[in-house]
Amino acid sequence: AKELLNINNLTIHYITDDGTVKAVNGIDIKLNEGETLGLVGETGAGKTTTALGIMRLVPNPPGKIINGSIEFEGRNLLDISEEEMRMIRGNKISMIFQDPMTSLNPVMTVGEQIAEVIEIHQNVSKQEAMKKAEEMLELVGIPATRVNDYPHQFSGGMKQRVIIAIALACNPKLLIADEPTTALDVTIQAQVLDLMNNLKEEFKTAMILITHDLGVVAEVCDKVAIMYAGEIVETASLEQLFENPRHPYTVGLFGSIPNLEEEVDRLKPIKGLMPDPTNLPKGCKFHPRCPYAKDICSKQEPKITEIENGHKVKCLIYEGLVDAEVKR
Ligand code: SF4
Repeated sequence: AKELLNINNLTIHYITDDGTVKAVNGIDIKLNEGETLGLVGETGAGKTTTALGIMRLVPNPPGKIINGSIEFEGRNLLDISEEEMRMIRGNKISMIFQDPMTSLNPVMTVGEQIAEVIEIHQNVSKQEAMKKAEEMLELVGIPATRVNDYPHQFSGGMKQRVIIAIALACNPKLLIADEPTTALDVTIQAQVLDLMNNLKEEFKTAMILITHDLGVVAEVCDKVAIMYAGEIVETASLEQLFENPRHPYTVGLFGSIPNLEEEVDRLKPIKGLMPDPTNLPKGCKFHPRCPYAKDICSKQEPKITEIENGHKVKCLIYEGLVDAEVKR
C-alpha cells in the first residue's frame, strides 16, 4: 500500500500566562492509503491537538507548532501556504468533530450544507452539487427526499450521518474523526460505526479515529497508537495490541480486557492523575503512575523500541534498563 501520511517529531505547545502547556511532544505517525488508525488515550493526552495540527487548525495564539513535519502525499503540510492548505482541508483531508449538534449550521438545509462543500472544492454547478448532495444522503442512509430539511428536523444519530456525508462529499484521502460517536447513545453509536466501516471500504478513505473507547477501536481500526502526556507510548496492529499489549500504561488501560473476541469495555481508570501538562515529569512521563517504575524511570527518557514487526513501545523495560515483566 502507498504511504499517505508521515508525521515526524510533531511538537505542539500552547503558550499561556500559567506556563507552556506541552500538549504534543514529538510524536511520529505513519498511515497508508485506506488504513484506519485509532488514536487512543485519556482526556488531555493530546489527541485532539494532534488532529488540529494535521488540519493546521491549532489556534495561534496560544497554540504553536514548535517542531516536526506532517508529510501528506509527500508534501510537508507545515511548509505550504494557508491558501493551499484551505484547498486541502475539506477536500483531501476532512474532519468530523465530537459534537454533531454544534457542527451543523441551523439556518441552512442539510442539502445546502453538503452541496456547499462540493461547490467550494469541485468545479460543478449548484444544481450538480445538489444532485451529489442527494446521492451522499442516500449513501449515509438518509432518504434523498429529506435534502431540503433543516438540522433540527433530524435526530442526533441522523445529524452525525449528515456530518459524515459532508466530510466524505469530496471523497477525501484522509478522514479525521474526533470521538464521532461519543455524544450518541449506544445503539445509534453502533449504527454510525457500521456506516463508517462500510464507507471506508467503499471510498478507500484512510482514517484517524480519535477515541477513548476500546470497543470503537476494535470495531473499526487496523492499527492503534496509544497516547499519554503528549507522547505515543505504544503503536501496534489491532491484533498485536489486543493480544499482546506491552506498555505498562496500555496494560493499565486494558484492565481486565482479555482479547478481541470477548466484550470490550471503556478504558479502565488508572490510579493517579494525568500529569500537569505545564510541568511534565522528567524521564518517563508515566513514571509517577507506573507500577513497574524504578529509579532510572524518573531520570532517563525512554526511546522507542520496536519489539516485533510494527509493534513499538516507549518504555525502559524494552531497552533492557528496567527489569520487569509486564503482565495484565
Ligand atoms: Fe514504567 Fe519505567 Fe516503563 Fe515508564 S519507563 S513505563 S516508568 S517501567
